Amino acid sequence: MSYIEEIKALVRKKNPGESEFQQAVDEVLESLEPVIEQNPKYKDAKILERITEPERVLMFRVPWQNDKGEIMVNRGFRIEFNSALGPYKGGLRFHPTVYLGMLKFLAFEQIFKNSLTTLPMGGGKGGADFDPKGKSDAEVMRFCQSFMTELSRHIGANTDVPAGDIGVGGREIGYMFGQYKRLRNEFVGILTGKGLDWGGSLIRPEATGYGAVYFAENMLATRGETFEGKTCVVSGSGNVAQYTIEKLNELGAKTVTLSDSSGYIYDPDGIDSEKLAFVMELKNVKRGRIKEYADKYNVKFYPNERPWSVKCDAAFPSATQNEISAEEAQTLLDNGCYVVSEGANMPTVPEGVNKFVEAGILYGPGKAANAGGVATSGLEMSQNSARLSWSREEVDAKLKGIMKSVHDSAAAAAEEYGQPGNYVLGANIAGFVKVADAMLDQGLV
Ligand code: NDP
Repeated sequence: MSYIEEIKALVRKKNPGESEFQQAVDEVLESLEPVIEQNPKYKDAKILERITEPERVLMFRVPWQNDKGEIMVNRGFRIEFNSALGPYKGGLRFHPTVYLGMLKFLAFEQIFKNSLTTLPMGGGKGGADFDPKGKSDAEVMRFCQSFMTELSRHIGANTDVPAGDIGVGGREIGYMFGQYKRLRNEFVGILTGKGLDWGGSLIRPEATGYGAVYFAENMLATRGETFEGKTCVVSGSGNVAQYTIEKLNELGAKTVTLSDSSGYIYDPDGIDSEKLAFVMELKNVKRGRIKEYADKYNVKFYPNERPWSVKCDAAFPSATQNEISAEEAQTLLDNGCYVVSEGANMPTVPEGVNKFVEAGILYGPGKAANAGGVATSGLEMSQNSARLSWSREEVDAKLKGIMKSVHDSAAAAAEEYGQPGNYVLGANIAGFVKVADAMLDQGLV
């Protein structure tokens, strides 16, 4: 058994039942084979054994009361995975499917993503098996307050700085920030994605979606192409999906789909800025279902289906993990799709990833393509530390520059290790080397 296979087996044995975590580890380790071969120092220092073990895992009870006065109990988590490059950084996910293995996969991915941004951030992730759907604002507030009551003991501006993810947007960040401030009597940047008037950064809400499009723009540029006139398919209809479409519209592309967990809509005329404003109101304020778009604009709604059978040039999976199966990856390729930029984390199953890589399309894996969100969170931390705020143009220019450097360093590592254009290999290697070297520098930690 090769060294890499040994570590994969070890991780499976030590983390039974955590399929998403095992999947994320397998993908990274497989890419690292040539790096480990050429650099025995990593094997000698047991870097792979160490990097796959979280520095700390916190799991806690979150009791709260619903509007009827009934007592509810959820489970909260924070995975502080790796702090070699800086304070733990990564979002909080509130979704009924959340469990330890899901958050460990997300925190593990976050280590390499954060490394790629070039900003000083370690990797972490957290959340709860709480479902915000159908809850009143008051219920969401009580839940967030209870969640932060425990989490506040473990985070800090120089220790661990969470952000949003699925089910955690501006509303939830606000309630959690308020509770932290009340408990600790300090106004400090312990969360990112804050409101603009109280420490937030311009462009943070837009950053993941914009960044996924900038990443794809950089990939297209390697072939001398732009987004002008391209047809795009987007999944999800939350934060990442919305701003992906906004940027694609700006660049002259046409997006024809949106989805949520109940199905997808197909609008052959394209989701223009007026229709996008409707989606933002529907999803961020009314918290309704995407089917209402089909009713309003008289287009077709496909219940319980995903949008990958729609013909397109570019696909932006922006909902959740494993949302593109191997068959769906093949359908995308068969229909002529040749750009995939992952706004979501690990949205393509491993067999699908292999299909994209073997087909030689422009495929940007999540840990590179969606790094714009956390990068802009890093910029929010810098602004908080300096107690100032940069203009929209300044932040957007920095985001664009960071996405170009994420692209270029992944491309350069892929080239160096003999697989030009393989951004999966490139992102994993470029992300890993910096973290591994920092761990070596810092001794046995
Ligand atoms: P939101 O909660 O704003 O939106 C999530 C969207 O995905 C909703 O349309 C939701 O539909 C859909 N969705 C969620 N879970 C499922 C599921 N199990 N099956 C089908 N559809 C689902 O989250 P974000 O837009 O913030 O996050 C989307 C993805 O982007 C996630 O993978 C996240 O990890 C990733 N990401 C987000 C970043 C950020 O800055 N927000 C940064 C980097 C990555 P419904 O409402 O029906 O549940």
